[in-house]
Amino acid sequence: VESEIVIAGGGPAGLSAAVAAAESGKGVILLERLDRLGVKLLASGGGRCNLGNALPPSGFMARFGRNGRFMAPALEAAPPEWLRGFLDARGVATEAADGFHFFPKNGRSSDVLNVFVEECRKLSVGIRLSDRLLSAERSGESFRLRTTKGELAAKKLILATGGTAWSSLGGCSHGLELARSFGHSVVKPLPAMAPVLVSDSWAHALSGVSLKDARLSFSTGKKTRFESSGELLFTHDGFSGPAALDISGDLAAACDAAGGPVKLTLQAKGDWGPAEWRAEIDSWRSHEDSKKIARTLLARSLTRSLADALCSLANCPETKACELKAEDRDRLAGILGGTPLDATGAGPMDKAMAMRGGVSLKEIEPSTLESRIVEGLHFAGEAMDLVGPCGGYNIQWAFSSGRLAGLSAAKE
Ligand SMILES: Cc1cc2nc3c(=O)[nH]c(=O)nc-3n(C[C@H](O)[C@H](O)[C@H](O)COP(=O)(O)OP(=O)(O)OC[C@H]3O[C@@H](n4cnc5c(N)ncnc54)[C@H](O)[C@@H]3O)c2cc1C
Repeated sequence: VESEIVIAGGGPAGLSAAVAAAESGKGVILLERLDRLGVKLLASGGGRCNLGNALPPSGFMARFGRNGRFMAPALEAAPPEWLRGFLDARGVATEAADGFHFFPKNGRSSDVLNVFVEECRKLSVGIRLSDRLLSAERSGESFRLRTTKGELAAKKLILATGGTAWSSLGGCSHGLELARSFGHSVVKPLPAMAPVLVSDSWAHALSGVSLKDARLSFSTGKKTRFESSGELLFTHDGFSGPAALDISGDLAAACDAAGGPVKLTLQAKGDWGPAEWRAEIDSWRSHEDSKKIARTLLARSLTRSLADALCSLANCPETKACELKAEDRDRLAGILGGTPLDATGAGPMDKAMAMRGGVSLKEIEPSTLESRIVEGLHFAGEAMDLVGPCGGYNIQWAFSSGRLAGLSAAKE
């Protein structure tokens, strides 16, 4: 069978590419190795699908780090307003009830998936489930493809094969291997949007404790500072919750680069640093509570078990407020305003919501998402070396990049 465009991967990037290419009048075949389409899309946002946010393009791209500018042409070709308009015109209204995170109004990710699947059907996209692209090679003017179900030829090939994260929801490295077989380099895949791992046993013992507004930060050797804030949950081997998930990709990369642990700092009370805590501790002494034990007073601001653990770390587990010397107060304020931890990385990959790393952007033309190595080969979605934090960034990128890849591949 010869088709004009073959797309490998039936997630948001592949579906969006299929619709765009078929709208342009091309014959399209979409291969998905699983027996269902959009498995991660369905699970996203706890089944509610956080499909974008209210940031303008510049702010949106900045959250993807140094490489964020690569996304500009895709976001221009298919901005968030396009995605929301596309869904709305097909009966799935979206809203940002909190003023920032966009979800389908009825809270059903399946409705988002169904709009794209239905559109593919209307446009006669040949959807082949349980059919994995096994190998691909350029032969003359077209590609010769081998899949689980046989052989195919295509004028253009789009790899929308996603990342390696969360394998039980389809994460795999097949697409990265295909990219490598074409001579593309792949930036090492690491977990992102994943739990943070620390080796400090006092923190493990607090498993189950949650903080409403904590801050995590670390600096790399180059003195670049990374920081995240929000809800944080202690787990048996580190932290989970938005503040952990958001910093996890950068932390995984820093630990990987360092070849070992990285110093991570916790601020249990958001923007309270040592100075704010020192003022608080000083206020205990002039108070009628000055005869009380410091950790008891601290438990007014922090969960009891965390207050106990931090006072132990500061060597004042049973000290009364009035007995704290100036150096004790400094030490306790320092620990409270920046608790040191040894971070060993993030993960595991099977619990990561996204992959950091992927096909190197240096070998992809941002305005078409076409390979700079192999003519007619395009990329879309998470397979490329770009990852955003929690908050609808990655799904928006998948839909936008898919559309640009599909439109570009459809051009002669
Ligand atoms: C639990 C969870 C919750 C998430 N929640 C959110 C959220 O709320 N908001 C957000 O923005 N992001 C979220 N994400 C991330 C988001 O789902 C992904 O970034 C997004 O799905 C990436 O889209 P994609 O199309 O590039 O890849 P995928 O959705 O991974 O799709 C790629 C598809 O390609 C298939 N495939 C791979 N290799 C081959 C091959 N050789 N041949 C054929 N098919 C192949 C895979 O089976 C897969 O179905 C979440 C992720 C997880 C795991």
